[in-house]
Amino acid sequence: MYTPPPIARERLPALLAAMPKAELHIHIEGSLEPEMIFALAQRNGLTLPYADVEALRRAYAFSDLQSFLDIYYAGASVLLHEQDFYDMARAYLARAAMDNVAHAEIFFDPQTHTARGVSMETVINGLHRACQDAQAELGISSSLILCFLRHLSEEDAFATLEHAQPFLGRFIGVGLDSSEVGHPPEKFARVFARCRELGLHLVAHAGEEGPPEYIWSALDVLKVERIDHGVQALRDAALVRRLASERIALTVCPLSNLKLCVFPDLAQHNLKRLLDAGLAATVNSDDPAYFGGYINQNFAQVFAAVPELTARDAWQLAHNSFAASFAPEARKRAWQDRLAETFAAHA
Ligand SMILES: [Zn+2]
Repeated sequence: MYTPPPIARERLPALLAAMPKAELHIHIEGSLEPEMIFALAQRNGLTLPYADVEALRRAYAFSDLQSFLDIYYAGASVLLHEQDFYDMARAYLARAAMDNVAHAEIFFDPQTHTARGVSMETVINGLHRACQDAQAELGISSSLILCFLRHLSEEDAFATLEHAQPFLGRFIGVGLDSSEVGHPPEKFARVFARCRELGLHLVAHAGEEGPPEYIWSALDVLKVERIDHGVQALRDAALVRRLASERIALTVCPLSNLKLCVFPDLAQHNLKRLLDAGLAATVNSDDPAYFGGYINQNFAQVFAAVPELTARDAWQLAHNSFAASFAPEARKRAWQDRLAETFAAHA
């Protein structure tokens, strides 16, 4: 097992920014900055219920997950054409490359768009083209994960899957997002079973606001390979043992947890306790335009707020992010080698 070299605490901020990392929990619609929302509204001849960019930004004061989702869906309503989806994803990938993200697995919510009359083809082709261009122009690798909205029915999820089937080569997996409490994973047992038959990777949000039972059913009923968020896992010792022994990754999003009041402040975030419990935690941005920061801000702020987090933890988080990605093993090893080189350069 590789052991990272000792790193002085004052060098940690530069290291966190410079280290290569994978981002595994990013909703592309959540990367839509207020400036782009207004630009797309203007391009598409739409009027927003906010006077200007600043008024929209002021509305980003959330009390829980639902208060955020209401504004998030309003923001996504400006996306109509393939170019809109392209521009959104291209902007995110450029931003991620600046944060030394080597690989991103990007969530998208087709039901948010198809319910407004936008076709699946428009959504997927715009996002896919942005991923291809970013690889060619920026060297950042990325793939797409289609998420079902859990506040809608399983029938609606099945219809979405059917619409997406002609584009199976353009996304690598499915996820489950939106309002968690009251919509347990088992509600989507049949559609996830079908996705598994289709050879898709499976992930689900669980244990963000919802109880540890939702993480159990995501694992046992949906048979997911990663848990998105999962910070409530520490409430259940048996669950912690299960997650640790199977190296099930948790895609933790510290600034999201702060903004949605999952933790009262970042100093009380349980990221360090998750790592110390042997869980394969990673750090991600979730909905960066809404929660106050992209992935490096998440690293910087949680490490500043929780002084017990060390350089060894930074290495572990980045290492986990590659290990938990759905990229080919050879790519994972190459990124992990680059990670070790970055640590050596900061020692
Ligand atoms: Zn999320």
